[in-house]
Amino acid sequence: MSESSAIWSVDDHLADILAAVRPLEPIELHLMDAQGCVLVEDITVPVALPPFDNSSMDGYAVRVADIQGASEEFPAVLTVVGDVAAGGGALPAVGPGETARIMTGAPLPPGAEAVVPVEWTDGGSGGGAATGMRPAGQSPEGASGEVRVHRAAEAGAFIRARGSDVRAGDLALARGTVLGPPQIGLLAAIGRATVRVRPRPRVVVLSTGSELVQPGESLAEGQIYDSNSYALAAAARDAGALAYRVGAVTDDADTLRGTIEDQLIRADLLVTTGGVSVGAYDVVKEALTPVGDEEVLGGGVDFRTLAMQPGKPQGFGTIGPDHTPLLALPGNPVSSYVSFELFVRPAIRTLMGVEDVRRPTVRAVLKSDGALRSPAGRRQFLRGTHDRAAGTVTPVGGAGSHLVAALAHADSLIVVPEGETSLEPGDEVDVVLLG
Ligand code: AMP
Ligand code: MG
Repeated sequence: MSESSAIWSVDDHLADILAAVRPLEPIELHLMDAQGCVLVEDITVPVALPPFDNSSMDGYAVRVADIQGASEEFPAVLTVVGDVAAGGGALPAVGPGETARIMTGAPLPPGAEAVVPVEWTDGGSGGGAATGMRPAGQSPEGASGEVRVHRAAEAGAFIRARGSDVRAGDLALARGTVLGPPQIGLLAAIGRATVRVRPRPRVVVLSTGSELVQPGESLAEGQIYDSNSYALAAAARDAGALAYRVGAVTDDADTLRGTIEDQLIRADLLVTTGGVSVGAYDVVKEALTPVGDEEVLGGGVDFRTLAMQPGKPQGFGTIGPDHTPLLALPGNPVSSYVSFELFVRPAIRTLMGVEDVRRPTVRAVLKSDGALRSPAGRRQFLRGTHDRAAGTVTPVGGAGSHLVAALAHADSLIVVPEGETSLEPGDEVDVVLLG
């Protein structure tokens, strides 16, 4: 890999990166560690859910013939033969003229065909301590061991049938599913403790710059706070990665190479910021550009000029024994963030095995006070706020790539194509939604 003199398009640069990135090898993870990960196996249901017919109400398990025609005026009077709670114990058989008090989730006892909610009864007094189930205003002194039911019910009423959620052998979740909270809940419900997924990529985010100070420390003359390592580590985490932040390496090539080498052990992907332009202290470029046939850290990074704004200087290559991809992003905070969105996020999503690696793009009508100017031959990404209901997008702040406050108030990127040098209010534009 040598320095490219050609100008790369945004699309070609991304394609070059994605061609070098493969989904990570699947591993078996505990459910709680698999959140956000992509399933690589079809999961079939081992036992029906619910596993047995059970009551959806606190009430009485009955035979429908016994309560046929029951009313307030002519209630059915049944003998309470026992109690069925959720969680086990022997089930009392319900014979003709009999009933069993039953709690929500408890198995339907043999002989019973329906459940009547306690509200349809006088609350009874059978089957032991009935106090908790008596509706307000009901006297506890009912006929001992009896309950009066004043409404009829169909067979199956208030019963959650075995297998009514999923049946044994059904496909619970297909491979390729991203595991969110409800999917993790379903896996737990069918008794799975672990699943095979692609793991979260480990992404090391490393900022460079001798002028950088960590937040919480005090600034001396000419120093600024390191915001890139924070923003990009957060963005990496947001994309689904395990992010390791390495705050501000000084502008010294040997120090930087040493730091990167140390970080390789825990990286599936490396991201650097700063030091990629043509200035005198462009340390990333100096440290990682192969010299002739001489590789750097077992590989090397190709530094190139992109037809985009912000984010013109970019580096990409693979290094280390495992050919770990490294994306070298420019230092200006907005440039690095936009570059992350366009190139690093899709790389992370590819490592995760996600189908759709890109942010959604929508069309919207430009809402601005005046025309927007954009450099010829470069794809420009302006920060915007998108109004979904109105179908409009409004620029926030200017084009300056140091404007972090405007970035913090934006929710989208307005795309001005390479061929456009000016956009008028009312023009339709592509908008990348940052979610
Ligand atoms: P560079 O490409 O390293 O010259 O950086 C370009 C600009 O971005 C300079 O003004 C840097 O001070 C600034 N910059 C670089 N890295 C960071 C960072 N981690 N946080 C905030 N600003 C940065
Ligand atoms: Mg720098």
